[in-house]
Amino acid sequence: TKWVYSFGDGKADGNAGMRNLLGGKGANLAEMSSLGLPVPPGFTISTEVCTHYYDNGNQYPAELKAQADAALAGLEKALGMKFGDPADPLLVSVRSGARASMPGMMDTVLNLGLNDITVEGLAKKSGDPRFAYDSYRRFIQMYGDVVLEVDHGHFEEILESAKDEKGYRLDTQMTADDWKAVVEQYKAKVEEELGKPFPQDPQEQLWGAIGAVFGSWMNQRAIVYRRLHDIPASWGTAVNVQAMVFGNMGDDCATGVAFTRNPSTGENLFYGEFLVNAQGEDVVAGIRTPQSLTVQGREAAESDLPSMEEVMPGVFAQLMDVREKLEKHYRDMQDIEFTVQQNKLWMLQTRNGKRTAAAALKIAVDMVHEKLIDRTEAVQRVEPSALDQLLHPTLDPKAERKVLGRGLPASPGAASGKVVFTADAAEAQAGRGEAVILVRIETSPEDIHGMHAARGILTTRGGMTSHAAVVARGMGRPCVSGAGELRIDYAKKLMYAGEAIVKEGDTLTIDGASGEVMLGEVPTIQPQLSGDFAELMEWADGIRTMKVRTNAETPADARAARKFGAEGIGLCRTEHMFFDAERIVAVREMIMASTEKGRRLALAKILPMQRQDFVELFQIMKGLPVTIRLLDPPLHEFLPHTDEEIATVAKAAGVDAEALRQRAVQLKESNPMLGHRGCRLGISYPEIYEMQARAIFEAVAEVLKQDGDTVTPEIMIPLVATRKELDILKAVIDRTAKAVMEEAGQQITYLVGTMIELPRAALKAAEIAESAEFFSFGTNDLTQTTFGLSRDDSGSFLKTYEDQGILEGDPFQSLDTEGVGELMAIAVERGRKTRADIKLGICGEHGGDPASIQYCQEVGLDYVSCSPFRVPIARLAAAQAAI
Ligand code: ADP
Ligand code: MG
Ligand code: MG
Repeated sequence: TKWVYSFGDGKADGNAGMRNLLGGKGANLAEMSSLGLPVPPGFTISTEVCTHYYDNGNQYPAELKAQADAALAGLEKALGMKFGDPADPLLVSVRSGARASMPGMMDTVLNLGLNDITVEGLAKKSGDPRFAYDSYRRFIQMYGDVVLEVDHGHFEEILESAKDEKGYRLDTQMTADDWKAVVEQYKAKVEEELGKPFPQDPQEQLWGAIGAVFGSWMNQRAIVYRRLHDIPASWGTAVNVQAMVFGNMGDDCATGVAFTRNPSTGENLFYGEFLVNAQGEDVVAGIRTPQSLTVQGREAAESDLPSMEEVMPGVFAQLMDVREKLEKHYRDMQDIEFTVQQNKLWMLQTRNGKRTAAAALKIAVDMVHEKLIDRTEAVQRVEPSALDQLLHPTLDPKAERKVLGRGLPASPGAASGKVVFTADAAEAQAGRGEAVILVRIETSPEDIHGMHAARGILTTRGGMTSHAAVVARGMGRPCVSGAGELRIDYAKKLMYAGEAIVKEGDTLTIDGASGEVMLGEVPTIQPQLSGDFAELMEWADGIRTMKVRTNAETPADARAARKFGAEGIGLCRTEHMFFDAERIVAVREMIMASTEKGRRLALAKILPMQRQDFVELFQIMKGLPVTIRLLDPPLHEFLPHTDEEIATVAKAAGVDAEALRQRAVQLKESNPMLGHRGCRLGISYPEIYEMQARAIFEAVAEVLKQDGDTVTPEIMIPLVATRKELDILKAVIDRTAKAVMEEAGQQITYLVGTMIELPRAALKAAEIAESAEFFSFGTNDLTQTTFGLSRDDSGSFLKTYEDQGILEGDPFQSLDTEGVGELMAIAVERGRKTRADIKLGICGEHGGDPASIQYCQEVGLDYVSCSPFRVPIARLAAAQAAI
């Protein structure tokens, strides 16, 4: 087996398509190398080695050593240097890289190959002892931390006190001798901690680092990250061993990171930061304030530090050239890492850049206009659930704000919540349903669970590419980073903002679009849905085959849904129209009536109000289909509870309060969700459904008369288990339709159908379809009844089920395609066999969930229906499902 893949010098064994085997980093290093970009040579040990290692009791494959030795010999030959050579040592970095990018999860070791002897060689050869000893101390620090697991705090302490002693502020003030002294102290500390000296043998160093990378695949941070992002442990990581290039050799050297376009807004502007005379992670670590790459970026950041464009124009030109080549080649926005050694640019990494939803949208649309990608690809580039971020409110510009400070606009969106200072507190309080803002000096991978739980993240240190910023953008959390005027005291759980003091539990608002941090909760406004958004949606609409409707019963919801592009109503729950304060008395009167006559009297009061509801909905929907579900919830839910409520209903109905109380007791059910509800109500009290049908038909007649719009209502009977139930109720509806048509002198077209929300209905779909003109899958109840799992009570134990791997996720959020899905497939097949043109839709919560929408496409539904805010998500998801 081939375990090791070399790259460099315009060639490579691998390519970008081999990311499963080489990891993202290795595959793209190979690809860049083949493209002729300047990449320091190296080799990649494949992810199969990692899998082999864990499958075989932490043993490497037997051939690995020989293959790695050969690859290293190749490197030595290419560079004319030798690993461990005392005069001119080849140094390497050892870098991890999994299939999916896992920022900050795995640790890299730089400058490997240095020891007490080779450091002298490096000093002589480079003519720069300061650089050599700086590199050596970095190596001991990283190797000590990552491989030897010596607490990095020790190294920081030694460095801090060395600087204090000399009265230095910056690392750059340290001289060669200063670093040399630090190296001695580092080595002594390692020996003190481990009881053995820091390893001097480069081979031992190399294999120690490789082992540490494979080991880090199973560290806690990596495991948490994989869990949050659904990355299987079986994928494994690759290890990249690469010749070092040095950004810390003086003022014509630098290191930096960049995005080929703005990852926050998507603007087609080069965007990045760099540090002169620095190495590796210095930019991200926030040790010094980084400088912008472009003049434009410097101006936007209001920085007084010059940009690369100004101080290193030659290098900047090389970088611009690489930017263009990469975008042309990858046809996507890239996130790159580079180092400049003596004015020569070296590329160390490229990958598709993480971006906000707004940026994803803009980049996808722009790239179509730039002819880099086509519309179908653009539609696939935007994560449907990420649209949520764009549909979310921003701060009302007119609202009053008490600004405490300002940081960088690291991830857009506004968020308010109570201040917490630790990730654990964020998780705990969010678990109790509170909105929290996680406030940290800076974040690290240990904080990810808290960042996930928080509504927003605020840090006082770090730039646009800091951990907090990158992770927040990926998660879609608003984030303000590097708000330097604010000071945090973790011990006292306080944040100081000038004169003001913010305590844990105080409410803050952050605006990730402007970087402002405000005291209290600031009101927000709705987003604009024009421009790029509208354009991408139009492309999605051109691709999808399923229609998207909305679940709505109020005019406000119906209007919002139309604005979001809903093509009709898939579920109008009439009971929501009954709970209105004005109507509830009449509704209760109807339910409590013990005779048909009593019920009809009460229903007569409700009829005009219900008719008006439908008139309004039909007017908003302008001839689009409207599915109306007749009364569904258990009677139980409408019962009056307090003495006062009973007295009011008794008075309205003209009956005795005591008799009414008795009736309420009689109507109580012990298992209402499986009790007197749905079509069972219609069967026992047909006059209720008759009134509702009359209200619908009279509204249709009125809208036709008033506006000339023809509405074809789809009347839906809930909770049907047998065809007979449907037949009886359909007869009531048909009879009412006929009566209204005669009274109004108009022809009315309508459909009668049913929900499929009981397993029996799914199984008997062939028979039910004899009477039903459409099916709508009520997947909330269908999930509930298929699992025998109460949706209202399952929260307390579902988490345990997920933890133990019994269920992959909450089946009420994402459809259980295996079980509930199979029932749907059965119903679709049997229903269509009886009635080929039967209309099929879904109206459960799942209708707005992208994974469930994918399944709806697979089983061949005609439409999905979801809450108004999810309509755009469903439109995009339906398009992706159709591709
Ligand atoms: P991460 O995945 O955390 O970004 P990397 O392996 O990319 O880790 O490396 C960490 C830092 O070290 C990056 O800034 C990278 O550019 C730098 N680096 C890695 N390898 C080399 C090398 N061979 N020469 C110079 N810098 C390197
Ligand atoms: Mg990197
Ligand atoms: Mg239901």
